[in-house]
Amino acid sequence: MSSDLVIVYHRQPYDEVEVDGKIEYVANKSPNGIVPTLKSFFGKVENAAWVAWKEAEDPSDPGFERVIEIDDPFGKYTVSRLPLTASQVKSFYHVTSKEAFWPILHGFKEKYNYDPVDWPTFKEVNWAFAEAAASEAAQGASVWVHDYNLWLVPGYLRQMRPDLRISFYHHTPFPAADMFNVLPWRGEIIESLLAADVVGFHIPRYASNFVSCVRSLRDVGNVPRIKVEDDMMSEGSALSDRTTPTEIHVEDHVVQLGVTPVGVDVEYIKSLAASEETDKLAARFRSEIGDTRVLLSVGRTDYTKGGADQLLAFERLLERRPELRGQVRLLHVSVPANRNMTVYEPIQKELEEIAGRINGRFGSFTFQPIALISRAIPFDELVAWYQVADVAWITPLADGMNLVCKEYVAARKDGDGVLVLSEFAGAAVELGAAVLTNPFSSRAMDFAIDMALDMPEEERRARMELLNASVAKRDTRHWAEDQLTLLSPKDFGAASSD
Ligand code: UDP
Repeated sequence: MSSDLVIVYHRQPYDEVEVDGKIEYVANKSPNGIVPTLKSFFGKVENAAWVAWKEAEDPSDPGFERVIEIDDPFGKYTVSRLPLTASQVKSFYHVTSKEAFWPILHGFKEKYNYDPVDWPTFKEVNWAFAEAAASEAAQGASVWVHDYNLWLVPGYLRQMRPDLRISFYHHTPFPAADMFNVLPWRGEIIESLLAADVVGFHIPRYASNFVSCVRSLRDVGNVPRIKVEDDMMSEGSALSDRTTPTEIHVEDHVVQLGVTPVGVDVEYIKSLAASEETDKLAARFRSEIGDTRVLLSVGRTDYTKGGADQLLAFERLLERRPELRGQVRLLHVSVPANRNMTVYEPIQKELEEIAGRINGRFGSFTFQPIALISRAIPFDELVAWYQVADVAWITPLADGMNLVCKEYVAARKDGDGVLVLSEFAGAAVELGAAVLTNPFSSRAMDFAIDMALDMPEEERRARMELLNASVAKRDTRHWAEDQLTLLSPKDFGAASSD
């Protein structure tokens, strides 16, 4: 019971590697921007802790270190590792979270899989996370819980420790009531979230949707709304809203709704982009590619990312514009999920089939129009690719935010390049200067990629300047400060700017 800030996130903030028979902790290589973003808080708070799970078949094994101290470039912090068995992890994370919650959060009712869900296990695991956080938190501490797989933690934590300030942040979209209420556990989830002091979302639409879900389940009276900042309301995005709800009153408890889009570490990306190593790497990639234009697409292998639709759009491009054959290549990076998630296997197969067909139709011995990369590319390499790519083509069907598009913008030190972005990515709300497109429409996808490839340099640069200003304005630090100020105004700063 000694930490003033406890971050509760299911994944550990490092990778464990064995060196000469000893375990060492190294920075995460996972293709996920949240961990380093959260770790950036450790520079701000002296005695911070992180709660995550670690797989352990026998938690009573004396070799299992439940709490470890980490001292890395982000600061010193304690990591409390909650031992979970492989079957608990499978049930709470791979099944309930990924097969039931994930499709509903992203609006894919047809992918929702109720039958294998074991609700008692989900509750048991969330209870254990709450207990671990409660035992780390000092009196009156702030506890920041992340993401839907820990939905029940705020409610349990409130029962255990009424003294705590509790915040819950959603890194995904939050759907409207007619979608969310597909979940039979909706009442328990909403009641748990209403036990928090702050519930955070990327964009106003998700906060409004949350209010619609709350209202469908209980009477909360008037919910005040304020005007959204102009630069958070891109006219072209299907997800933009003009106003955003600010708080919900539940009897005498106030739940603040914090809307702050997650940003990227602009300073870090710019320093990486400016480095000699990146220049060398980018020059190597360019010479390997030769005189063709590069479209870059990066994402996880997930039905929400719209990979197959994009490959089909590329096939149509080569059919429609024969002059581009041999002149344009697509580097499509699709990072496969953890091997426990068989639900993503058919998507991988589909991508391979379409990419194979396109390469067969339009390729030659020496030229393949698509490079399908089915593994994670290290971030420094990705930054070099961002500089080489004429177009970043990011067209998810649903995406809470999408960091890749922001990284592309931050990495373009030459001020050139075109971002084609789905209007169903949360980022589209801020990035109205991108070429926004609707990935559910072939015509819109075709129009957007034509526009990107034909865009005059002057327009490319003008758009990129605007994009750069947006990405720099709401970077990781902005997100961190905004959310922490809401969570604990006395310790972390003045009132929020929202
Ligand atoms: N990423 C990476 N290597 C890859 C693919 C992705 O390092 O080969 C990183 C990427 O730079 C970004 C994160 O993974 O920081 C993906 O975040 P995003 O919000 O775009 O998508 P998510 O996977 O969280 O849905």
